[in-house]
Amino acid sequence: MPLSATGWELGRPLTRDARVFVAGSSGLVGSAVVRHLRAAGFTDVVGVRSAQVDLRDADATARFLDETRPAVVVDAAARVGGIAANAARPVEFLHDNLRIQANLLDAAHAADVERLLLLGSSCIYPKYAEQPIREDSLLTGALEPTNDAYAIAKIAGIMGVQSYRREYGRAWISAMPTNLYGPGDNFDLETSHVLPALIRKFHSARVAGDPTVTVWGTGTPRREFLHVDDLASACLHLLEHYDDPAPINVGVGEDVPIADLASLVARTVGFEGEIVYDTSRPDGTPRKLLDVSRLQALGWKPTIGLAEGLASTYRWFLEQQAASR
Ligand code: GDP
Repeated sequence: MPLSATGWELGRPLTRDARVFVAGSSGLVGSAVVRHLRAAGFTDVVGVRSAQVDLRDADATARFLDETRPAVVVDAAARVGGIAANAARPVEFLHDNLRIQANLLDAAHAADVERLLLLGSSCIYPKYAEQPIREDSLLTGALEPTNDAYAIAKIAGIMGVQSYRREYGRAWISAMPTNLYGPGDNFDLETSHVLPALIRKFHSARVAGDPTVTVWGTGTPRREFLHVDDLASACLHLLEHYDDPAPINVGVGEDVPIADLASLVARTVGFEGEIVYDTSRPDGTPRKLLDVSRLQALGWKPTIGLAEGLASTYRWFLEQQAASR
């Protein structure tokens, strides 16, 4: 099998009894990664709740990694949120993410973790990057101001991985997923991303018999949506097939205008009223479609289409509502 520059055997399946620590295992991404690894036969997948180990605390993080001694770490721990939360709380989005990443990378190095995958976001790329966005457009232009604090923290995470590779020869990598959704998402209207927010808004309007639903912005920005179960499968594929300092994009290669997403959500939940646009709310970046040719060349592609993923996420939302009653 071909060896990477760090000596990693590309294409070798990870040992199914290797201990894998998924940081952020109770979140949207982390919980999907845990599910996927277990389904793929991994027998020693470890997660931790932030109440047990606060990854913003360097000592607590170092102690936990030293005791746990994983062979592999997936960093899905982050403070995340939609356009409103990012714009309102830049301090937390910057500092919590910087701390979590620095603490995890330092602790993983001290615990001699062989393989580590750090997850970032497509918002690291310049606001007006050429579309679809190639990985090499990183740091070629100014960021979108509604989430620049988060983006800078994630760019620092990429640099952390690259620095550990350069200075210590670590076979660590980073991947940049596009906008994600799926079971376990945050459905809070002020802090969530657009897709779960629209599920909640259209569902509530149908149940209450409201004639209209308000969608933020103009409806013209375009976004790409990846189901989190597809991301989880891409994470395992990358751990087994990718070892390079450059971050790698994870997406579906197609995007939709927010107005089309709103119509699709309306159909999915059975809302027949009118959609109105609140243009006092920001649009954010006009478009962020990822170029996924490098990932596809490694032999991975997504399997869950938007209509199907939306329908199953809506079913999950309904089950949660029923369970919380
Ligand atoms: P972004 O991809 O970082 O901009 O984050 P979001 O998922 O929060 O927003 C994506 C787009 O959807 C932006 O243009 C928002 O203005 C728009 N949008 C429309 N309605 C909503 C809503 O109810 N909630 C959120 N979060 N975004 C909305």
